[in-house]
Amino acid sequence: MKGGGESLTREALIVAASEIMVKGRLRPRLLRLLAKNIAEIAGDRRPKIYLLQGRVIVEPGSAGGLEELARMISLTPGVRWVRIGYVLPRDYEMLQSLSETLAREAGVKTIAVKALRSDKSYPKKSQDIMAELGARICRACGARVDLENPEMTFWVSVQRDSFLLSTRRFEGVGGLPVGSSGKVLALLSGGIDSPVAAWLAMKRGCIVDMLHIYALPRPEDVLTSKVREIFLRLKNFSQPSKLYLASYHHFLQASLTANPRLELALFRRFMLKLAEVVAVETKAKAIVTGDSLAQVASQTLESMHSASYGLKLQVLRPLIGLDKEEITNLSKRLNLFELSISDYKDCCSIISKHPITHPRLENVLAEWERTRLDDAVERTLQEIYVFDGSRLSLWKDISTRSNSLQLE
Ligand code: ATP
Ligand code: MG
Repeated sequence: MKGGGESLTREALIVAASEIMVKGRLRPRLLRLLAKNIAEIAGDRRPKIYLLQGRVIVEPGSAGGLEELARMISLTPGVRWVRIGYVLPRDYEMLQSLSETLAREAGVKTIAVKALRSDKSYPKKSQDIMAELGARICRACGARVDLENPEMTFWVSVQRDSFLLSTRRFEGVGGLPVGSSGKVLALLSGGIDSPVAAWLAMKRGCIVDMLHIYALPRPEDVLTSKVREIFLRLKNFSQPSKLYLASYHHFLQASLTANPRLELALFRRFMLKLAEVVAVETKAKAIVTGDSLAQVASQTLESMHSASYGLKLQVLRPLIGLDKEEITNLSKRLNLFELSISDYKDCCSIISKHPITHPRLENVLAEWERTRLDDAVERTLQEIYVFDGSRLSLWKDISTRSNSLQLE
C-alpha cells in the first residue's frame, strides 16, 4: 500500500496478552492457547497468526473488516489490547515514510511517537526513534507533538527482523485464555445476567457449557429462539461449549400443589439439582449462575442458600457484587444486550409472583420432599438434549449414568 516496498509492508493486528505475561513457566503454553483461540474467533477469515516476542500477530491477508476483527479479538479472554497497524521490514526509511503517509492521510494536528526495542541490539535507542520520527512526521504534515493528548499515536516496536507500527488501539478485556482453567456449567436463562456470568467464567479461562431450562413445547423450539443466538455468540469465545436443554414440564406438574410463594425457591433448587447431575456427568467442576445479590426477590442470601444447600459441586456467582448497570454495560459490550431484552417465554415468567423473599431453608426442603421434586429431577434428566452448535441430539441414556454423585 504505502511508499516503497509495498509487498513487504503487511497490515496486521498486534495483540498483547494480559495476565499471561506474569505467569512465568506457564507463559508459553498460555500464549499458544491464546493464539489458538484468536484463530478460532477469526473463523472463516483464516488469518496468518504467529507469536512474536510475547505478542500475537494476526495478518488477515485480505483487506477490509480489520476494525471489526480487532473489536472481536479485543473481547477475547486473555487479551490486554489490540492495535491495528503494520508489519514491515526493519528499514528505518520505510518506517518513516509509512508514518508520514499515515499522518497525512489522517490529517491530524497533534501526534505522539512511542517506541520500544524488543531487540536491544538495534543501534538506535527508543528515545532517538521517538524524537526523529516525531520530527519527521511533524515536518511532513504540519502536526505538532503533544505527548499528553495526541490525536494520533504512533507505536513502534523494534523486532529482530521487522518493525511493528500501529496507530489505533482497542482495549482488551483481560483475563486468561479459555481452556486454561477447566470446565464449568452455566445456567443460561436468556435474560441479561446469565450470559454475562457465563462470559465472566470464560474470562477467567473456563470452557463454559450451558444448561437452559425451557418452557416451550419442544427442544427444537428453543433452537429457533434467542437462546440459540446467545449461546452461539458465547460459543465464539469458547469453541468446545455445548448447550444442554432440559424441559420445565415435570417441575410444573410436580409443583402444582406447592405453596405458590415457595415455587420460585423450589424452581431455583430444581435448576441447580439438574445442573449438578449434568455437570458431574460431563466433568464440569462448578456450576455458574447469573445471581446478583438482592437484585430480585429470589436473590437474597436465604433463597440462594436454599437453592444450593447440600449440593456436592460449588456454585460460582460471578455477578454477585455487580449492579444492574454494570452488568448491562458488559452485556452491551459483548453485543448481547439487544438479544437479551428481546421477547422469550422463559419459565420465570410463568412461576407465580410474590415469592417469599427470605425463605426458611427447612420450609423449602420440606416442600421439596412433599411435592416429590427429586422424582421430577429424575424424569427431566431422561429427556435432556444437547446442542453442539450445529446438531441437536438426545443427551444420553441417563439410566446408565455413572454413580459419581453418590461416590464423591
Ligand atoms: P437472568 O437475567 O440471567 O435471567 P435474572 O436477573 O432474571 O437473571 P433470575 O430470573 O432470578 O434472575 O435467575 C437467576 C439465575 O438463575 C439466572 O441468572 C440463571 O443463571 C438462572 N436461570 C434462571 N432461569 C433459567 C432458565 N430458564 N434456565 C437456566 N437457568 C436459569
Ligand atoms: Mg431471568
